[in-house]
Amino acid sequence: MLQGKLAVITGSTSGIGLGIAEELARAGADVVLNSFTNNDADHALADDIAARFGVAARYIAADMSKGAECRALIAQAGRCDILVNNAGIQFVAPIDAFPAEKWDQILAINLSSAFHTTAAALPMMRAAGWGRVINIASAHGLTASPYKSAYIAAKHGIVGLSKTTALETAGQNITCNAICPGYVLTPLVEAQIPEQMAVHNMGRDEVIAKVMLARQPSREFATTGQIGGTAVFLCSDHAAQITGTTISVDGGWTAL
Ligand code: NAD
Repeated sequence: MLQGKLAVITGSTSGIGLGIAEELARAGADVVLNSFTNNDADHALADDIAARFGVAARYIAADMSKGAECRALIAQAGRCDILVNNAGIQFVAPIDAFPAEKWDQILAINLSSAFHTTAAALPMMRAAGWGRVINIASAHGLTASPYKSAYIAAKHGIVGLSKTTALETAGQNITCNAICPGYVLTPLVEAQIPEQMAVHNMGRDEVIAKVMLARQPSREFATTGQIGGTAVFLCSDHAAQITGTTISVDGGWTAL
């Protein structure tokens, strides 16, 4: 279905980004994986996707906290038919104890990176006459929780950026939407468990049941494959008139 398309997925050596890269490759797209680490293991992940799905896959290092590197990633990819802005980090603390440098870092990686990559990719999409921008927001792009001020501000921001991108590309065979996952058990979520245990003074199982999945009525984590499948759908012809909106994959979280 996506043969001949090149997808660039930011922050895709782990978790949701890797799941999206795998599902886009399964659908026939060539993929560019990204993170800032540039390890042998990062390049091996791309080789593995190429071997498993019979597509072209490569890894390009770029730090999504730096605007120039975001733009260089797209330039180095050479073309960009599908842009998935996925790179993201989390930090949990009350606002009055939230380190200012963490606020800046989260806003840069979770929001500003998408502005820079989108700015670099849109001219390529317009030249190709087709494009898909998929921003990975969160249930926290639509609702809030305590202690995650920077993350929630950035995720609400990327929902707004998605709407503006959609309006500026309407009628050009380009769409832009935000996927809003609930909790997906990835390394990012694993890292939050000790922080949440400290903030709430609870054990691991109690934090998972009473804090994390308490707001996810299905009481099940979403999977990286389900987020990837949603991205594939957004790239399909069936989704050609879906633009400027959010798709929740959250087990009912935002229905509450
Ligand atoms: P993860 O920690 O497993 O993966 C994050 C990826 O981003 C990694 O590949 C990491 O190397 C990369 N990355 C981090 N900082 C980077 C930087 N400065 N430059 C380039 N790459 C960088 O996280 P995840 O859970 O897969 O989250 C991916 C996205 O999904 C994030 O935007 C996150 O906010 C969002 N999200 C996650 C969940 C969840 O429950 N896991 C829920 C909603 C939204």
